[in-house]
Order: sequence, then C-alpha cells, then structure tokens
Amino acid sequence: MTTSTDRTTGAATADRPITLTSTGGIDRASHHRLDEAWLAAAWSHPTTRVFVVSGGQALIEDKEDGRTELVMMPSFDAPFTEAHRYFLGVDENGVRYFALQKDTLPGRMDDIARPAGLREAGVLLSERDSALMVHAIGLENWQRTHRFCSRCGERTVIAAAGHIRRCPACGAEHYPRTDPAVIMLVTDDQDRALLGRQVHWPKGRFSTLAGFVEPGESIEAAVIREVAEESGVAVGSVAYVASQPWPFPSSLMLGFMARAASPEIRVDGDEIEEARWFSRDELRAAFASGEVLPFSGISIAARLVERWYGEPLPRTART
Ligand SMILES: [Zn+2]
Repeated sequence: MTTSTDRTTGAATADRPITLTSTGGIDRASHHRLDEAWLAAAWSHPTTRVFVVSGGQALIEDKEDGRTELVMMPSFDAPFTEAHRYFLGVDENGVRYFALQKDTLPGRMDDIARPAGLREAGVLLSERDSALMVHAIGLENWQRTHRFCSRCGERTVIAAAGHIRRCPACGAEHYPRTDPAVIMLVTDDQDRALLGRQVHWPKGRFSTLAGFVEPGESIEAAVIREVAEESGVAVGSVAYVASQPWPFPSSLMLGFMARAASPEIRVDGDEIEEARWFSRDELRAAFASGEVLPFSGISIAARLVERWYGEPLPRTART
C-alpha cells in the first residue's frame, strides 16, 4: 500500500475500501421477496447456496490458498427450517443466496470450520461473503428482537423472505430497523486530530468520537451535538465521508470529517474519560511508545483517522 503524499485529502488512503460497505457484487433483488413461487424455485435450485447464522455468528473456513470463506452448502444439505429463511440476493453468475437463522450453528465432522462473528470475519472474508454475512446478521438481530407487534403486542410472523414482520391481529407491517449513528474525526486550525478514550476502554485506547442521531435531528446537527457533549469542543464545518453498516445490533455508521471552531476540551466524564489533540508527529510517537494502542477492529473510525494521518495506521491483528 502506498502512502499518501497529499495529507490534506489523504487521497491514497481514502480510496481504500471500508470494511462491510461493499455490495460484494450481490444484487439484493428485493422484487422477488414477496414472490413465494420464485423463492421456492430459487431455494431448490442446485446452484443455490445457503449458510446458517446464529447469535451473530456464522461458520467460516480457511482455505489452503490462504483465503477465508463462509461455509455454504446447497439447499438440499441445509438444516430444515421454514420459519427463518432469508433471501439475500443473486450474484453476477445467477447464484442465489439464502441464510438460515438457527438456534445453533450446524456441527461439522471436521475441525476446519469455526464459528466467527462479523468483527473477526469482516476482515477475513471476501467482499461477497462479507456482504452476505452483514445482511444476514442485520436481519437476524432485528428478527430476534422484534417478535411482537409494537402496535398491539401480538406475536408477528416473518414475511418477504425475512425482510418484513406482519401482525396477524392488527395487520401492521414492520420493517427492519436501522439506527443512524454519526462517527467523526474532528481537526483544529493546526490540523491536529481530536481522539477520545471512552470510560470503559483500556488505558491507551483512543478513537474518534461517535454517537446516535436523535429523533428530529439532522446528521450534521448530531455531529456538532455529540462532539460538544463528549469533548466540549465546538464544531464549525461538517463534511460527510462515507457510511458503514454496523449491525451491533442495528446501526448505520455515518462517517464525517469535522472542523473545530474552538479547540478547548472539556470532557463529559460519563462517556468519554479523556480527549486529546494529536498532531501527526505526536500520534506517530504515541504509537511508537505504546502510549496510544494500535487501532483495532473493522470500524470506519480507523479509515477516518487514516484520511487525516496520510498513511495506514498500525493495526492489531484481530478484533
Ligand atoms: Zn399488531
């Protein structure tokens, strides 16, 4: 990976893909979701591939050539379930993909496959497999926690191949929920970056600030409010960068670069214990000394910081 020579835009690093955001070449083909005859034919087609999700995990497998894949099977090998079958889409070769939600992952006679959540699998799988898994886990999280009608309390039933729940009592249709959250890297007039440490994080772990969008609030206003609440820093301008599905359990992270109007820090102490301005040299030195831990995980946070930093950040291997 080349490093950026243009530190004001971080062009080289900004073009790197953000984990979990790719469609992976999958057409979700949502027009088929209500067509039971089409779904039945697609399910029984010999090229169709199926994987099981359970509690936010799926089975993954390391191949001899170094790739890691989702463990998928033809539908005739899949565990029987009628209730929780999600249609995820079609790839460019016409292969249809389904996920089954089960209480447990299927056992395997060999020891090659292992269960993994998205935080691990997201950095290992191909874009196609990541896209399929993030879609399935998002549906699973919603299905698990929305079994009853929020209007009348009756038990709801799954419909639209996993993408709707219907209430047989009052007729309400409930759609998968996505909670918008903002995540932002704030810089000041000296082009230093503001990083914070949450109260429950280990010493040395810093990241961008983030928070949920509230009802009746624009995402730009949410950026300004969250930065002010968590760090006391007043934000002037806000520029959208990219988004990332974050089904832990149901967020969509909306990534921003923001500019501070004034640099004074006053942390809230509840959510954020410490917030600091770092120049690039200060952050590089802090990584080298261990004062700041390498960025971990699959979050868009690391990409936002890299955009400013101008080169890939030191990363931990996993989770
Ligand atoms: Zn109802």
